[in-house]
Amino acid sequence: PVPGPPVLAARGLRVRYGGFTALDGVDLDVPAGRVAAVVGPNGAGKSTLFHCLAGTLRPARGSVTLDGRDVTRLPAHTRTRLGIARTFQQLAVFPTLTVAENVRVGAEQGRPPDPGAVERTLRLFGLDGPMRARPAAGLPTGTLRRVELARALAAAPRVLLLDEPAAGLDDAEVTALARILGALAADGTALLVVEHDLDLVAGLADVVHVMTAGRIVASGPPGDVLDALGEAAGP
Ligand code: ADP
Ligand code: MG
Repeated sequence: PVPGPPVLAARGLRVRYGGFTALDGVDLDVPAGRVAAVVGPNGAGKSTLFHCLAGTLRPARGSVTLDGRDVTRLPAHTRTRLGIARTFQQLAVFPTLTVAENVRVGAEQGRPPDPGAVERTLRLFGLDGPMRARPAAGLPTGTLRRVELARALAAAPRVLLLDEPAAGLDDAEVTALARILGALAADGTALLVVEHDLDLVAGLADVVHVMTAGRIVASGPPGDVLDALGEAAGP
């Protein structure tokens, strides 16, 4: 099916760190009900792109729109309230808060209060049992990734930005993650995933964007784009 208008769109994003150009004119659409993936080598600018979309970094040039509204100058917390949620490559859970409290923080940062959001999200991630009362500190990486994803989702986002969600997960956890992300997209959420795990990307993404040196150099269905990548990388 043809994707609808993008929920989140970037046009001409340019970011410089000192004399170094980290984003060099990036255009990107994230449509509702679709999973878009960004792949590329370390240093390509993937996390920088995320920061621009989430609002933790202001681009020198270009724009970010959410449902057609220009949010380029809005701070991250305002964008979260408008429907952009994200997870971090370096996990960002509150260590002294319990699992349930972490998820509640996410719900409170989101769109108009939905009293059921916390419990629903905890259940979705299998965190509603004894795990809910555990402090986040000391939990295994796989569980923390679930807590962080649950925190982001409790905000009921229109678009969810995931920076390396499979990092540190075992195969079973990656499979469970893929199932949840697929279900979210089927429910109409727009997803953008930056991911090193190309098997996950191949199984999950509707469209893959390849980033190199601050530019998107190829975009298309995973079959086409990832095959071309494999051939470029050689045997
Ligand atoms: P990726 O996520 O694709 O690995 P990043 O967006 O993290 O790439 O980084 C892109 C480039 O910008 C890298 O060369 C990185 O070293 C550089 N960079 C990232 N953040 C900063 C910063 N705060 N100051 C200076 N250079 C940075
Ligand atoms: Mg990164």
